[in-house]
Amino acid sequence: MMEFAERVRRVEPSATIAISDLASGLEADGVDVVDLSVGEPDFPTPENVVAAGKEAIDAGHTGYAPSDGIPALKSAIVEKLAADGLDHDESEVIVTPGGKQGLYEVFQTLIDEGSEICLLDPAWVSYEAMAKLAGGSLTRVDLASHDFRLEPALDDLADAVSDDTALLVVNSPSNPTGAIYSEAALEGVRDLAVEHDITTISDEIYKELAYGVEPTSLGSLDGMSERTVTLNGFSKAYSMTGWRLGYFAAPEALVAEAGKLHSHSVTCATHFVQHAGVEALENADGAVAEMREAFRERRDVLVDLLAEHGVEVSTPDGAFYLMLPVDADDQQWCEDAIEDAHVATVPGSAFGAPGYARLSYAASEERLREAVERLVEGGHL
Ligand code: PMP
Ligand code: GLU
Repeated sequence: MMEFAERVRRVEPSATIAISDLASGLEADGVDVVDLSVGEPDFPTPENVVAAGKEAIDAGHTGYAPSDGIPALKSAIVEKLAADGLDHDESEVIVTPGGKQGLYEVFQTLIDEGSEICLLDPAWVSYEAMAKLAGGSLTRVDLASHDFRLEPALDDLADAVSDDTALLVVNSPSNPTGAIYSEAALEGVRDLAVEHDITTISDEIYKELAYGVEPTSLGSLDGMSERTVTLNGFSKAYSMTGWRLGYFAAPEALVAEAGKLHSHSVTCATHFVQHAGVEALENADGAVAEMREAFRERRDVLVDLLAEHGVEVSTPDGAFYLMLPVDADDQQWCEDAIEDAHVATVPGSAFGAPGYARLSYAASEERLREAVERLVEGGHL
């Protein structure tokens, strides 16, 4: 009988991916599912970015790349970070196959058995899993009771962290709430991080998808550059989920340690994909702006439709998610919604927010209308 390591037995498969797989399974059986589960833009990757990827293959960039990334991409990343007020040089950046891999490497580098990690709930499903895989223990601060805002929860955060806290994860714009934390809130985080000497991860993967509010980069605040890992990727802003490309920037000592893990596990991010990444950072602002505008319109459509049916939600300022208040048993609600109404959503409890379902509005306006109609007709709303 095979025996499995305790570290994998501690975690569950990703709930977001599990629901999306369930929806795909139903679709394969011929069911028309409105899939608002997985967080994946429904736009094609911008044409010039696709072309750059193809050209890179034709040009023979099909071998290993330098482990931490090709110089052209690292230099474009350093420029992008500088525009966000983050001063890094190329030795402080690692290019990864997807942002998720970057986060995984950072958790593995910082967390020992028993290390304390603080999450702001609701939090994206994989933080908990990564914390557990690394052997860490979790402290969670609830933002749901504060309308998903961080500022009113700063006292709770102050109670939750201590000199024993090794890592605090901040994700703004947030998955699953779409909230963007104010600069004042992030300054509150900074004060606690400095006081207790806590390392922070600022997951900025939705930073380009903000609707009228400019997200602040945590690492740009005084006192934070030496303790912040800034994580970003190409999946969301450039609609490049399947290309698997991301990166993180951090103090050089952390990058040196994480680089060992990176080189022994993935070796490098796919070489030709990195060339497409350069094109994305240098020449895709227009495409990103168009997608941003489309997401903003869809958000407004969805919020208005729900309001028409008497459902009030907190209007998200960024990303492409919305938290829908549902039954206390949100797991059951989501199961019923997918089975009866064929609308796929993710239970809030997967993110530490029972009583909600996460809707991804990375879907056409027509499909969003269809989803709300089905939920209303099925008596789910
Ligand atoms: N952070 C957050 C908050 C996310 O929602 C995702 C989406 N999967 C990621 C990181 C990682 O994305 P990817 O690995 O596709 O870059
Ligand atoms: N981050 C996306 C989501 O939350 C993609 C799936 C995943 O990586 O969890 O749906």
